[in-house]
Amino acid sequence: MFIALDDTDSTEGMCTTYLTALILRKFRDMNLKVDRSGMPNLVRLNPNIPYKTRGNGACWFYIETEKSNGSEKEKIKRTVLNFLKKYSRFDDENTNPACLFLDDEIWTRNFEILNKFYKKAVSELCTIEEADRIADTIKVEIHKFKNGRGLIGCLACLGCDFSDLTYELLVYRTEKNFGTERRIDEESVFEMHKLFYPGTFDNVNTEEYKPVFMPHGKDPILCGIRGNGIEIVNKAFSVIKFKEEISFTQIFRTNQHTDAHLMSKKISRLKQHDAAIIEGTVTENPKRIAKGHTFFKISDDTAGITCAAYGVTKLKDIAINLINGDILRLYGGIETYKNTFNIEKIEILNLAKIYKKENPVCPKCNIRMKSEGKEKGFQCRKCKLRFKSDAAKFIETARNLKPGIYEVEPGHRRHLSKPLCRYKI
Ligand code: ATP
Repeated sequence: MFIALDDTDSTEGMCTTYLTALILRKFRDMNLKVDRSGMPNLVRLNPNIPYKTRGNGACWFYIETEKSNGSEKEKIKRTVLNFLKKYSRFDDENTNPACLFLDDEIWTRNFEILNKFYKKAVSELCTIEEADRIADTIKVEIHKFKNGRGLIGCLACLGCDFSDLTYELLVYRTEKNFGTERRIDEESVFEMHKLFYPGTFDNVNTEEYKPVFMPHGKDPILCGIRGNGIEIVNKAFSVIKFKEEISFTQIFRTNQHTDAHLMSKKISRLKQHDAAIIEGTVTENPKRIAKGHTFFKISDDTAGITCAAYGVTKLKDIAINLINGDILRLYGGIETYKNTFNIEKIEILNLAKIYKKENPVCPKCNIRMKSEGKEKGFQCRKCKLRFKSDAAKFIETARNLKPGIYEVEPGHRRHLSKPLCRYKI
């Protein structure tokens, strides 16, 4: 049986991964088999939607049940619902929990429908009505609370095909430490990075010299070690020195760090909250506003859009050096501000050429001639030789940018953004 959960947490506490991990621990105590891999799945969905608490993640896992054993299934469902009711942050107006139970045959038979919905939910905005229609079509057992928005994540996560995947080993805190400052030996985190990068990634920001694998809120996560394999995240975990008591750990299979949310789109087809890859030519030179936020415009053959590189990221320094005519591929999406494309990665496909105008050199005296004014030509100060204005030379000057792909640094990236160190995989 497949079980999916979403929208159980708030900024005041909890985390859907924690609830999932607690339920799995309970099932292990009950001697139930959790998947062949024993691993739950954390599926990130569209990072540009307004309803998310943090990283827009939904979770699912699989429990082996005897086909005919109805009472066992009922016990499993009861346990999940009890946990969900006990731990969800119903008090928060933005928390709308849901969970669903799906038998193996139904999942197999309807995977295409679920996968189509996942592809939409990971890169566009979906409605609760769409989710309700799918739940009706595939006849899944759903449990929705409050406005039931959690159903979107529950259905979508079960359609993730994991065509590319990574792992995250989540370390949970003991309850008495929830809401207090997280305590981990920073040196050991950098030691871990030195030993395992690029097999592990997005755990530290080397330029700012700070670990970035710890959240900052009141949630139960102490840190999450991200990597390409189960073995490597386990080894990385063993290197870290924790300065506070750990409650338990759980590895999740995930679509994080895969760019699963980015589909190529023409600019005219972009809607608010879409994640996308767009291609175009710079048509308005960059402008910088307060805090270093840098804006420029690109256009393709259908429309134009303002693009933003935010001040906290290094991308602002690439953006400010762009000029009209540069051809770019941009990875990102539209979040709060309508018609502003927030950049996750900039790929420079072609740089426009810039030229410096030079006065001609007098062929007799070998000195640079003087301009006589606009369109009035040039004259040699020494021998008074004259040339027309078309004798000026245009010399190509170097740009302080190179074609290539540039990313937001760890700590400022979306969970779904694929880091460049994973490109060779
Ligand atoms: P955390 O990562 O800490 O678990 P979160 O950031 O995942 O929190 P949720 O509490 O899960 O945030 O809230 C996200 C809500 O948005 C859920 O109700 C989910 O069903 C819904 N949702 C997810 N993807 C979409 C989408 N593409 N369109 C509309 N709603 C969505």
